[in-house]
Amino acid sequence: MLQIRPFSDNRLRGRCVYCGGSAETRDHVPSKCLLDKPYPENLPVVECCDICNQGFSSDEQYFACFIECVKSGSTNIVDIERDLIRDMLEKSPSLRKRIENNTEKKDGNIIFYPEDERIKNVLLKLVKGHTAYELSLSRFDDPQFLWFGLLSSLPDGNKIDFNSVHFQQNVGEIGSRSMQQLLVTTLINHNGENINVIINDWVDVQENKYRYIAIDDMGKIIVRIVFDELWGCEVVWEK
Ligand SMILES: [Zn+2]
Repeated sequence: MLQIRPFSDNRLRGRCVYCGGSAETRDHVPSKCLLDKPYPENLPVVECCDICNQGFSSDEQYFACFIECVKSGSTNIVDIERDLIRDMLEKSPSLRKRIENNTEKKDGNIIFYPEDERIKNVLLKLVKGHTAYELSLSRFDDPQFLWFGLLSSLPDGNKIDFNSVHFQQNVGEIGSRSMQQLLVTTLINHNGENINVIINDWVDVQENKYRYIAIDDMGKIIVRIVFDELWGCEVVWEK
């Protein structure tokens, strides 16, 4: 991935991006368990405290295993495609059992029931990391909106909106990585006039595996993530 140095102010320096405590270590966003080897170079890194660094790992393992089991339609190790997830489930039979216990067989299909709190913990960690890294902003409060689900469950119009680039109306945090990556281009409007637009595009961390877009615009912070081109997440904070 392209490494961009932010030159916004130092408010975020020395603070855990997840809880606001003193930063003692650094953390990859996204965590490597959500990616495949070989890992992309220059993965985004944020500062965090030891408690947050350790505290999320069991929920992250659960999340990575849950989405892979749903993708494979099974909790049996032999059916799981990704080596990393097979290893995790082999090493942690209790985790495999826990996912299996939250399923139901119906008309020959398996229905998986997610553990909402664990999923929410992981999603909030990821979006806080992307917000800090891309937008040079920190949010420690709960967002006003959080959605997580299969992209296929979105109505067609919403799917297009969700996946589209963002046309930036106002300039966000000067010097943040996001602001340095904005693309100015010219479009022709319906009256045939040229108009300049500023485009905030998705960041592809790993193709078909993980992408995100972080938006600071119109009084809102919006972060969207796509996992495996299968699952979507959107989080919105009012500013
Ligand atoms: Zn922390």
